Amino acid sequence: MLFLKCPQISVRLDSLPFIHYKEPLGRPRRAKKGVSMKRILTFETREREDLVDITEEVRAIVSEYGVGCDLCALYALGATAAIMIQENWDPNIKKDVLDCLRIIVPKGQWIHDRIDGNGDAHIKAGIIGPSEVIPVQEGKLLLSTWQNVFFCEFDGPRSSRKVVVTLI
Ligand code: ZN
Repeated sequence: MLFLKCPQISVRLDSLPFIHYKEPLGRPRRAKKGVSMKRILTFETREREDLVDITEEVRAIVSEYGVGCDLCALYALGATAAIMIQENWDPNIKKDVLDCLRIIVPKGQWIHDRIDGNGDAHIKAGIIGPSEVIPVQEGKLLLSTWQNVFFCEFDGPRSSRKVVVTLI
């Protein structure tokens, strides 16, 4: 069992040992109605393409700071990454999503590949999009039983990927 601590947050990281820490943005405070706050999830990715389940890490932030908030906005920093809400029960869905995107956007045939070889990653990130907004009620994400939040990596592995979590 692994625990990581920062001044504001202590998080159990059994499921995602590669999420390193949460970095506060601005002065930490408990969210109030009409007052937004941000946190950054920072982690590494291990594959060129992957859907990394960050649901529990987002839930930990929302339960600690989201009481009184109505929305949780998630934003992936990086032009080759995205956020997707998707089923987590069947791991084949992750594979199907990545296989589908590889069919739609094959690697190695884009003008941008002359620059850094990742034209497909930019297009995939653009198709999925960098953000999602999830309703919050009484400090909990309003996800259905099978909905989880995934960070989409399209040009990994990366030592430091960041997701901005904004509570509104
Ligand atoms: Zn590029």
